[in-house]
Amino acid sequence: MNEENFLPFALPSLSEDEIEEVVDSLRSGWWTTGPKTRRFETEFAEFVGAKYAVAVNSATAGLHLALESIGLKRRDKVITTAYTFTSTAEVVRYFDADPVFVDIDERSLNLSIPGLRDALQRETGVKAIIPVHFAGQPCEMDSIHDLAAEYGVKVIEDAAHAFPAEYKGRMVGTLSDLTVYSFYVTKTIATGEGGMVVTDDEDLANRIKVMRLHGISRDVFNRYTSEKPSWYYEVIAPGYKYNMPDIAAALGIHQLQKAETFRRRRAEMAETYTAAFADLPLRTPLVEDTTTLHAWHLYVIRLDLDRITIDRNRFIELMAKSRIGTSVHFIPLHKHPYWRDTYHLKADDFPVAERVFDEVVSLPLYPSMSDHDQQRVIDAVRAILSESVR
Ligand SMILES: *Cc1c(COP(=O)(O)O)cnc(C)c1O
Repeated sequence: MNEENFLPFALPSLSEDEIEEVVDSLRSGWWTTGPKTRRFETEFAEFVGAKYAVAVNSATAGLHLALESIGLKRRDKVITTAYTFTSTAEVVRYFDADPVFVDIDERSLNLSIPGLRDALQRETGVKAIIPVHFAGQPCEMDSIHDLAAEYGVKVIEDAAHAFPAEYKGRMVGTLSDLTVYSFYVTKTIATGEGGMVVTDDEDLANRIKVMRLHGISRDVFNRYTSEKPSWYYEVIAPGYKYNMPDIAAALGIHQLQKAETFRRRRAEMAETYTAAFADLPLRTPLVEDTTTLHAWHLYVIRLDLDRITIDRNRFIELMAKSRIGTSVHFIPLHKHPYWRDTYHLKADDFPVAERVFDEVVSLPLYPSMSDHDQQRVIDAVRAILSESVR
């Protein structure tokens, strides 16, 4: 066994374009937010077809600012899925507001629509819904928007997995009040750390721009250029330090140009996996809905535990023995001590998430993997499962 033939679970896709652009930023002296961040924002907004894109230093920061921009207050509630990364819910706690967790749909592992309806009927003080497009498969946005309209709540999409993705022919990013993307190193396009908030609402975009950088407003300077000196600015709120540096945007500009090529390669690999695993003791793989364009951030298999003799953890150990990295998306939030204890969450309230969690394994799926790399994954999965059929 050597490190060299270890296939990591995820790796960014790097080319000379990114390297040259970063070096150019370094030499130019624009190490923090500058012209490249503005260019990345403009090009991202164009790509998605949204009016405004505001770059931030993580999706977590973007979700925080999105909630701030809609005026979330102490004791307000935000409905989201239990089947997500802790970011989605932690930002609600920044306001001393409360997340309300909903179970998932068995097929897509996205937020359950009946669960959402129940939560809206039951809870008071709900201000927003944060759907998460699990693995890059868009949620049932029409149903979510209908319910949001009925109850007068905002929709903020956690699209950390969903770039680029489409719902009924429309780009994710053009559907809801606000949409938040992640460019964390493992995501579909990467800047190391980074995120983007997109919206068509000028007021929300302006508020987010001000709050991502200390609550500083330069409007006063822009508007009265002739009267105010360039050093002048006004602080209009206690903001945050969430701006994206140009060194990150330099990566983003070129990753964005390749986003569709990357997506096609992941979709092709996903199809190869699905075909290669068709006869294995797996529960329905996450099938692509015909009304959506899947971003394929993750390829998740679900082990059919009734038909095999090993559990998920053993499967992961055996994959590691084959020198293949895997991951688990997600440990549902109701199983984490903080969320469980703070909100007295019980496994019985999340039966689907609870069961699915024991079955899921995420396999390597990224454009810099070769066909040979993917074949190694396929061979390992097939060998392990063939040896463990009951
Ligand atoms: C990665 C991820 C985030 C957080 O993204 P950062 O850019 O690391 O803050 C949020 N939500 C989901 C579903 C994620 O997978």
